[in-house]
Amino acid sequence: MEKQYISTRQGQKPLNFYEAIVQGIGDDGGLLVPDFDFEKLNLESLLNLNYVELASKIISTFVDEDGHQLIREACQKAYGDGLFPQEVVPVVKVGKDYIGELFQGPTAAFKDMALSLLPHLMTLSLKQLKETREVMILAATSGDTGKAALEGFKDVEGTKIIVFYPSDGVSNIQKQQMVSQTGKNVEVIGITGNFDDAQTAVKQAFNSQELKEVSLQNDVFLSSANSINVGRLIPQVVYYFYSYMQLVRDGEIAMGDKINFCVPSGNFGNCLAGWFAKNMGLPVNQFIAGSNKNNILTDFFNTGEYDANREFYKTNAPAMDILVSSNLERLVYFMSEDKAKVGQYMEELKTNGVYKVDAATFARIQSEFKAGCLSEQEVLDAIKECYDKTGYLLDTHTAIGYGVLKNYQEKSGDDTKTVILSTASPYKFPESVYYALTNEDLDVYEAIDKLEEYTKVPVPKALQGIKDREVLHTLQINKEDIIATIKDRLTK
Ligand SMILES: *Cc1c(COP(=O)(O)O)cnc(C)c1O
Repeated sequence: MEKQYISTRQGQKPLNFYEAIVQGIGDDGGLLVPDFDFEKLNLESLLNLNYVELASKIISTFVDEDGHQLIREACQKAYGDGLFPQEVVPVVKVGKDYIGELFQGPTAAFKDMALSLLPHLMTLSLKQLKETREVMILAATSGDTGKAALEGFKDVEGTKIIVFYPSDGVSNIQKQQMVSQTGKNVEVIGITGNFDDAQTAVKQAFNSQELKEVSLQNDVFLSSANSINVGRLIPQVVYYFYSYMQLVRDGEIAMGDKINFCVPSGNFGNCLAGWFAKNMGLPVNQFIAGSNKNNILTDFFNTGEYDANREFYKTNAPAMDILVSSNLERLVYFMSEDKAKVGQYMEELKTNGVYKVDAATFARIQSEFKAGCLSEQEVLDAIKECYDKTGYLLDTHTAIGYGVLKNYQEKSGDDTKTVILSTASPYKFPESVYYALTNEDLDVYEAIDKLEEYTKVPVPKALQGIKDREVLHTLQINKEDIIATIKDRLTK
């Protein structure tokens, strides 16, 4: 029996894993989801697996038998060949809870967890499908996806990648990381507008009839490296199991104990992968999603209404500055009894900017997900408080996890042990982090040096010498020109 993927909006013929990876998004504009039951894993059998073994085992459950060996090889290349340190996801005790560090990869952000594997999934899928056309990867980024995708896909045979970032919606470090990207097959383009504009424009490109035709004529096809691609979600299931097993190995919990996960969220791919893990048998009590001042997810989890008719804020946690949280569509799909409603909700979102899920769906969602948000000042306070109390240095996004968890615990009295997933190195946002500790405003590169001096936390390899990297990409375009720009690249 083939493991098949269908669209949340039900207008896509079933695809196998390889087709789903390569296509990236449903033909009907919906997101691809497994159309089979999640495989329940035996926890004991996972306890002593290393990250590569665990990843192979978990990811293989999403792929037909004939691909398992290829998946193993891909996981070895992504997680076992030196891109990550030996300890792929360190789990650190901070206060009475834990931080799962997802930022040890080549770009110092959690996006590396999936984007170091996705290019391998893409090439193995192209081979399995005997696809000879070239694939052009399009990615919209709020900062971290772009760099991680560029690193993952640079010089990968048979692929080209174009990253679109909001010209003034990413941090200085994020921008410098991207515009200095090397590789023969990469391009980085700034667009006017915010991340939602970039993401919407890229989604439009995928649905553009004109681009479909031009691609066809030029033997190229388009695919996505954003978390709308199910190939981004599946690799993220692994670190939920891994951090759980690490707590068991460390004697912090007993096998079978339930724990909570607190997840700084934007497009909601990270948190949703945790829910996949839970459905595969991981003992999870609650997921707690954290937001910044763009608190649309918090409101949704508290009311069942997703209302995008609100102001967009640029904050000190820019990777979470978002109004259209794509992966929520997948959660709503899984939680809805009547799947046909998903397409209707998304239609309402498109026309009125708002939808509300039915009561039964909302009740199911609320029983497993809690949410909270922090203002920018509260983010800074959380960094300072955590550092003063525990000596652990948080970045601005992870600080949201820390602060939201504290508020949740105080309000609910839930004292379940919790892993906060850390989504970035503090050195990706050094100005804010240094300011939080000292009230001193510094220029970005000075902030890196001073932060290291002050905290003795070493600058990650991914960011050493970043100041001196040559700028290779300077193009800026209007968001209206995105389709024309892609068309031009397709015909070259
Ligand atoms: C992408 C990102 C997030 C949000 O993750 P989602 O999967 O989109 O919810 C949070 N923090 C950082 C640093 C990120 O790069």
